[in-house]
Amino acid sequence: MPSDRRLEGRVAIITGAASGIGEATARRFADEGAIVVCVDISEKVHDLSDELGDCAFAEIADVADDAQVERFVRSALDRLNRIDVLANNAGIDGQLALLADGDQENYQRVMDVNLRSCWSTMKAVLPSMVAESSGSIINMSSVGALIGFENLSVYSAAKAGLIGMTRGAALEYGAHGIRINAICPGGVLTPLAESFMDEGTYKAWADKHALKRFARPEEIAAVVSFLASDEASFITGSSLVVDGGMTAS
Ligand code: NAD
Repeated sequence: MPSDRRLEGRVAIITGAASGIGEATARRFADEGAIVVCVDISEKVHDLSDELGDCAFAEIADVADDAQVERFVRSALDRLNRIDVLANNAGIDGQLALLADGDQENYQRVMDVNLRSCWSTMKAVLPSMVAESSGSIINMSSVGALIGFENLSVYSAAKAGLIGMTRGAALEYGAHGIRINAICPGGVLTPLAESFMDEGTYKAWADKHALKRFARPEEIAAVVSFLASDEASFITGSSLVVDGGMTAS
């Protein structure tokens, strides 16, 4: 199998697919032969699935809502019979605030969208993966799980929790042939990053990376695709740091 079609025929659910890293991942997966279920809270995800054509389906859902998660997983199984890959990518940074200034509503939403959603999506897909004795799950964490950033402590807590959940789940499901990994990107030029960064602060943030720049979403999508593929067949329970050297010092 040539590596450029390494996901041929695989069924993949990608959350947060309407923008940024998720959109780049959906495009890459489709290029590599996967059938992609593109999930997002935004209606924009329909534009992407229309553009990708027969290999793509759109599902509008809030991943923080367990009932909506169960609905899109059931719909994917009814339509496609199996789920080979789950890319848990949807995420928000939430309110930018000192810990003591943040409100309870923000805490709950950031935890629900970034962490609880990964629990509920994994809970929903794992029984079908166990039945197939195979599967790959990729959870989008962040360098914010590894180092602190001022005004983003709740986001960091959620992303660090996701690494813990990834490790535990990998131990639980490895014997079933299911690999579960996390990715910790550094800065990636997407609407999410732009939301807390004006043009003037871009250079200061870029300078925190050894490569002195942010990643393009496609550079993270390439790693999601690698982890989804058989080329990563002996990788599980890991958190791949893809940060242009931000945490090297
Ligand atoms: P983005 O804002 O460009 O895209 C996120 C997508 O998720 C959007 O389409 C949004 O509509 C969707 N989404 C948000 N909340 C949702 C919900 N409740 N239910 C369903 N969909 C929802 O962001 P991005 O930069 O591409 O981020 C993708 C992931 O990468 C996130 O988990 C983020 O924390 C992580 N990340 C991003 C960076 C960065 O610098 N951009 C760095 C590290 C990690």
